[in-house]
This record gives sequence, C-alpha cells and structure tokens, in this order.
Amino acid sequence: MNIIEVTNLTKTFSGINVIDDLSLSIKKGSIYGLLGPNGSGKTTLIRILLGILNYDKGEIFIIKKGMSSKETLKNIGYMPQQSSLYQDLTVFDNIKFFASIYNAEKNINFILDLVELDEIKNKKVSRLSGGMKQRCSLACALVHKPKLLFLDEPTVGVDPLLRAQFWSYFNEISKNNDTTIVVSSHVMDEAEHCDKLALIRFGKLIAEGSVSHLLEKTNSNNLENAFLKLSK
Ligand code: ADP
Repeated sequence: MNIIEVTNLTKTFSGINVIDDLSLSIKKGSIYGLLGPNGSGKTTLIRILLGILNYDKGEIFIIKKGMSSKETLKNIGYMPQQSSLYQDLTVFDNIKFFASIYNAEKNINFILDLVELDEIKNKKVSRLSGGMKQRCSLACALVHKPKLLFLDEPTVGVDPLLRAQFWSYFNEISKNNDTTIVVSSHVMDEAEHCDKLALIRFGKLIAEGSVSHLLEKTNSNNLENAFLKLSK
C-alpha cells in the first residue's frame, strides 16, 4: 500500500521549474531516499509534501484519503535541514515543547537516550555543537513516534558512529513500527540504506527503484556511476 503518491508535480520559482513534472510513489513502512545534488529540488519537494509550500500543477495523495489534515499532521514528523530549534531553550525544553504538542511527554527520556543527549539535556541549544543540534532536531521530529517521517539531510555533521546508530534506528522503526521514512541526501553511500530511491536532477525524476535495480539498469558498480550515466 502506498502512503504517498505524487503525480506530475510541478513547482515554479521565478519562472523556473524547480520541480518538473515529477511523479513517484512511496510504500508504507519503507525507507525512501530522495537523492540528488544540492539545488535539485529535494527540500522543495519535502516542503510541498508537508503542505508548507504550495505547488503549481499535479496531484498529491498523502497518508489516507478522507483523513483530516489535523489527523494527518499528528502522524507526521519533520526534521528540516535548517534547525528549527529554540536557541535560548535547553535541549530538554525543546524536546518537551514538541512532545507537548502531541501529548507525547512520556517518550522524552527514551528519545534523549536514543540521540545520546541525556547528559547535556539541561544545556541551552545555542551552546551545542553542530552535530549535537542535529541530534536534538532529530529528537524533536521523532518524539511523538510519527508514522511518516521526513528527514532532510539528517546526518550532515553527525560523526560516523552516531550516523550508523541513526540508520539502525531508522531501519528498526521502519521494519518494526511500520514507520515510513522519506530521507533526502546528496551522499551516495547513505542511499544504500534505502529500500527505494528517487534520483533527482534539476527537479526531474531521472530514475526510481532499489539500489540493486539502479545498478543493474545502468550496469554500474556504484550509485555515483549510475547517477552519472542516468544524467546523460
Ligand atoms: P535541494 O534540497 O535539492 O538542495 P532545494 O529544493 O533547496 O534543493 O532548491 C531547489 C531550487 O529551488 C534551487 O535552485 C533553489 O535556489 C530554488 N529555491 C528554493 N527555494 C526557493 C525560494 N523560496 N525562492 C526561489 N527559489 C528557491
């Protein structure tokens, strides 16, 4: 069953198609990667799917037909690329703020543990390093245990060990809790973790499929080569 279906989506900024006649579908419980260089339209697509940005043409179906937008929003988590944390609040208070919107305060300690911020939960966000802020943003997006999670370049600035832990958690919630994860990245090796990928260039979908399908299709031994071949 698909949780997201996008058909012929187009978004124009100043006369330029930033999303260009793009269609894709995302299966419930899968990890779906939006892969493309900077400026290819990944963030714009995520923001349109979240309803933060409007679009010019096309159709979008998200979660369940007939579900009110309030119900839909309760089931969605979003980790933006630019941190939306309150710099003057502590780590704990930031997470608590997001948790309280959804009555999910009971999950705060679990999430603090997961992102390894328990020991510095009383520090103000403004005093954190980039990687710590990234972890705090992730905690805010996850604290209500959403069924659909949008992660915009979630592991930028995160050290390799913690990055592996993030991915293992993403895999776990996708497999065990049936959570769907839509994750954008410009780093090809992260794509290996995704069940299905959309390769995006200049707002166009240049290919969609599993890593093995894309490698086979282009007769490549890595995604970077596959991307280059498909871009020609
Ligand atoms: P990505 O996430 O793949 O790096 P973006 O979706 O952020 O790409 O940007 C895609 C293109 O849209 C870029 O050329 C960017 O400059 C342009 N763009 C994004 N937001 C706006 C905006 N609010 N106004 C005008 N152009 C924008």
